Amino acid sequence: MAGAFARQLLDWYQKNARNLPWRETKDPYAILVSEIMLQQTRVDTVVPYYQHWMELFPTITSLAIATEDEVLRAWEGLGYYSRARNLHKAAREIVQKYAGVIPGNLAELQKLPGVGLYTAAAVAAIVYGADVVVVDANVRRVAARLFNIDDPVGSPTLEEQVHQTMQVNLPKGEAGDFNQALMELGACVCVPHKPACTVCPIQSFCMAYKEGKQEERPVKKIKKEIPHYEVTAAVIWQQGRVLLAKRPASGLLAGMWEFPGGKLQMGESYVHGLMREIQEELGAIIEVGERIGIYHHSYTHYKVTLYAFHCTLNGGQPEALEAQEIRWVESETLQQYPMGKIDRMISQDILKLGRKMP
Ligand code: SF4
Repeated sequence: MAGAFARQLLDWYQKNARNLPWRETKDPYAILVSEIMLQQTRVDTVVPYYQHWMELFPTITSLAIATEDEVLRAWEGLGYYSRARNLHKAAREIVQKYAGVIPGNLAELQKLPGVGLYTAAAVAAIVYGADVVVVDANVRRVAARLFNIDDPVGSPTLEEQVHQTMQVNLPKGEAGDFNQALMELGACVCVPHKPACTVCPIQSFCMAYKEGKQEERPVKKIKKEIPHYEVTAAVIWQQGRVLLAKRPASGLLAGMWEFPGGKLQMGESYVHGLMREIQEELGAIIEVGERIGIYHHSYTHYKVTLYAFHCTLNGGQPEALEAQEIRWVESETLQQYPMGKIDRMISQDILKLGRKMP
């Protein structure tokens, strides 16, 4: 079975592989960038970001010498910003420690910031031809169906079986194509809902299909309810400029710029909550004015509804008590500052209104 399943899959891949920009190169840096961008992000979303990134930072050295703001701005909208910061750090480390050459060894690769087993295996297999399997959500789904594995997603037993079965079936010397073929099958044919089994090149080997259980594999893990937070933000105006705060160097959206504010406490009004947050965060008193908008966003582990208000100072000068830095900026220059999704929406609304508060 092993050889036949892999052969059919590889033949299918040769004829059906999508034309993706990172498939036109074996440049280790380009593959590293694409693999990091593809973590938790859809291919269609990644393509324009990848192309823009490679224009801005075509080599590992060009990325190493870029500023953090330039890097975060180029990543803005892709989410999971620690990926960008780690890639930037990894580029600097590769230039300093490895003379700009990305190592091909799995263990060395995993020492780089933000490079876990998955990314290391992808680079080692695709670029350097190492005989290792690369397990992402697509490969996990295909394996769970192909071998009818009934352990739930997230369980170590599922991971172990997926790795083992795929490693046994990996055709030596063809790891790059084999891994990409599995991912391609998962993305285009063996999709999460209603897999296209009738046109699947490995249908005759698929154990879940034989039992009619393909929709039940992989077994889903029980989802916890996602918490929802009410949050406020202040667009504080002074002499035609607005105040931005740079988030701390670690944690969610680290190093990104935002309008100051924070979570409302139980039973607190928007106005009081915002005034309290600004006093805690900046040591200043504000007057809360007109509402700019209501914004919704889902992060990995929680959802947010944010209320943004025009504000003015009413006592004290703001200080960066919790932020890395604060800065008064002309509203026309907001585009230059890397921001999370909600803060970018607020910025765009301010620019659309085209108004300047006192
Ligand atoms: Fe997936 Fe269906 Fe192919 Fe099995 S037969 S691998 S379930 S697409």
